[in-house]
Amino acid sequence: MTLLILIIIAVLVVFGVTDIRRQFISKPIFGFFRKVLPPLSQTEREAMEAGTVWWDGELFSGRPDWQQLHSMPMGELSGEERAFLDNQVDTLLLMLDDHHVVQEQKDLPQPVWDYLKQERFFSMIIPKTYGGLDFSALGASTIVARIASRSLTAAITVMVPNSLGPGELLAHYGTEEQKQRWLPGLADGTEVPCFALTGPEAGSDAGAIPDSGVVCMGEHDGKEVLGLRLNWDKRYITLAPVATVLGLAFKMRDPDGLLGDTKEIGITCALIPASHPGVELGNRHNPLNMAFMNGTTRGEDVFIPMEWIIGGPDYAGRGWRMLVECLSAGRGISLPALATAAGHVATRTTSAYCGVRQQFGVNIGQFEGVQEAMARIAGNTYLLEAARKMTVGAIDMNQKPSVVTAIAKYHMTELGRSIVNDAMDIHGGKGIQLGPKNYLGNMYLAQPVSITVEGANILTRNLMIFGQGATRCHPYVLSEMEAVAMEDKDQALKVFDGLLLSHMLYGARNGLNSLVGALTGARLNSAPVAGETARHYRNLSRLSANLALMSDLAMAALGGGLKQKEMISARLGDVLSQLYLASAALRHFESEGRQHGDLPLLHYSVEKCCYEAAKAMEEVIRNFPNRPLGWLAKALIFPIGNHFHMPSDDTAKAVCEAVSKPGVVRERITHLCHMPEGLEDGISEVEKAFLALHEQAPLMKTLKQAMRSGALPKQAISPALIAKAVEAEVLTESQSESLLSAWTLRTAAIHVDEFATL
Ligand SMILES: Cc1cc2nc3c(=O)[nH]c(=O)nc-3n(C[C@H](O)[C@H](O)[C@H](O)COP(=O)(O)OP(=O)(O)OC[C@H]3O[C@@H](n4cnc5c(N)ncnc54)[C@H](O)[C@@H]3O)c2cc1C
Repeated sequence: MTLLILIIIAVLVVFGVTDIRRQFISKPIFGFFRKVLPPLSQTEREAMEAGTVWWDGELFSGRPDWQQLHSMPMGELSGEERAFLDNQVDTLLLMLDDHHVVQEQKDLPQPVWDYLKQERFFSMIIPKTYGGLDFSALGASTIVARIASRSLTAAITVMVPNSLGPGELLAHYGTEEQKQRWLPGLADGTEVPCFALTGPEAGSDAGAIPDSGVVCMGEHDGKEVLGLRLNWDKRYITLAPVATVLGLAFKMRDPDGLLGDTKEIGITCALIPASHPGVELGNRHNPLNMAFMNGTTRGEDVFIPMEWIIGGPDYAGRGWRMLVECLSAGRGISLPALATAAGHVATRTTSAYCGVRQQFGVNIGQFEGVQEAMARIAGNTYLLEAARKMTVGAIDMNQKPSVVTAIAKYHMTELGRSIVNDAMDIHGGKGIQLGPKNYLGNMYLAQPVSITVEGANILTRNLMIFGQGATRCHPYVLSEMEAVAMEDKDQALKVFDGLLLSHMLYGARNGLNSLVGALTGARLNSAPVAGETARHYRNLSRLSANLALMSDLAMAALGGGLKQKEMISARLGDVLSQLYLASAALRHFESEGRQHGDLPLLHYSVEKCCYEAAKAMEEVIRNFPNRPLGWLAKALIFPIGNHFHMPSDDTAKAVCEAVSKPGVVRERITHLCHMPEGLEDGISEVEKAFLALHEQAPLMKTLKQAMRSGALPKQAISPALIAKAVEAEVLTESQSESLLSAWTLRTAAIHVDEFATL
């Protein structure tokens, strides 16, 4: 007892007396930090400063403020956006025949191009003053998703001018003259933009582009002016083959000092008319057979005036910052919308197909193996819609949450890919045989495009989510790094000491919360709601404390080396990401008015996220390079093992039950797979068959009972059996007619296309 009291007094003296603490604790750690922390590179600093910290900061804090989550305003579509969806988007959907577009014409038909331009689909982010639609991020995301539900080629064509590119760069950074010159044409489609950053030598490492712009004098419009001599070689550029205006990123140099002393000015963006002498555009790539325009652009010693730099000469060298800033928001809109659309199409069509297709005498939806995959499809789709709404909601609140949008980009496109894979498996050959009846094949083929663009997924997971999240969202680390970098060493130590004390208390709190959370199953954590969803908040708070603790241990053990330890840092990023997705699902459930029918979907998705987060945490601990710290982490986080598990089989079955019958739950979770009046395609075919068979379920039951009682022979349901049922007076004439018409729809829905020649 005396020893314990002495230890407590010693700890209080060492930590409580400023001079002692500063001398014996803060100073050595300060020296260590100065040695191990590499200075932030310019590109890292710009990426770091480009965005804002939002809900990700709370999740990283170890003690998320759930009231803050609940008080976030729910985004609503404006009246104009609703009208656009009901009119222009519905009309477009009726014009799209994706099989013809992708497999036959390999381009959108001219009337579709004309309609997209005429109705200003390319101008959703252009302000109204320049003729644009100026829609919210929620509006743009919903429109792109609805289009994607019928044609990814059309959706990508619409999405690109509305994300990072000339329109967005001009709207944010352009001079008034440039805006006047370009935005009205971009809004009404007389100008088609593309943006070229990637080249053969620089893909993910876009900061390393070799393309150059050298400051020199040259001739423009018959006059000798100051400008740039450009050389570039770019590939993979969407819309390049049909673009009339090229946004180009290059490295600007001023070797002759025509602008001043700086010779390496840095990445710069310019806008160049496609008709400008020397600009090569037109060659097409074939991106996995998708029919959207994608190709190359090159130029050799092309002279442009300085005024063509986006933002004017003042913005020379600021291109990287501009791109990172725009991507910080943009990657949370378009690709997540495509992924969510895939989820809505897959949930609607697969749940329908499960009720339409029989094997071994029963609907395939009754097999548990199929139910397992169907539950994954629907549960992941619930997560996608929740994360879509929450992420675009943040952007509409003028946040630039770069870590959150990186999470959305990576995890939502991965969820989309997994959903489409599951849907293909359930559809069997029906998903494989391409043709107008196939609604999954082109979507399946296009998944790698979403995975690769706007930050390839492996890089996004490994470098961006935790790499940026750890420093940006952590309450102390960035300030500590800044303190360590201060020139005045004494002042630096003083600032660092204050931060370190708070940081240590924060670490101790997270360690204690982790241990108590593990021993009590998080039962002592508070929740902002009562009832059966409360446990999810408690579990997420526990996992948040685990993440905060483990991040500190990882940074302490590895310092700047954590960046290279991608397998560790990516898994920590996975924990953060799963917390984000789960909290989005909880918010979605609340904002939708706590729909009782959606509970199985909510339970499934949040339990799965907690399981994934805990699994990632377990792997971090198991592979932690500093073993003593690894043991400490295990003792605090999983002292009696990891008890998080995948949703139970009963939960999975409840999810299938919820989405396998027509009704509000199924409508809500598939609303982006919209069925405008008059649309006759593979999706509407399987949906009609599903609805008709559902309506005739009582008669099917009558037939089966008659077979059991011997009134009818035991055989698969068919028109012949239905005829026999009439003869045996099991069914009336009118009952047999309605059953036959449902059966005809079902036969059409299970058939695939066939061609005399390909
Ligand atoms: C269909 C399509 C459309 C496109 N449209 C455009 C466009 O309009 N404009 C434009 O400028 N570009 C465009 N791109 C380019 C796209 O942004 C790049 O493909 C992407 O940046 C990846 O570059 P890369 O393909 O050269 O892959 P690489 O950079 O060669 O990457 C190969 C692999 O290495 C991984 N990797 C790289 N660095 C790291 C790291 N540090 N840690 C972990 N993993 C890493 C990547 O994740 C990837 O898995 C498009 C690409 C495609 C396929």
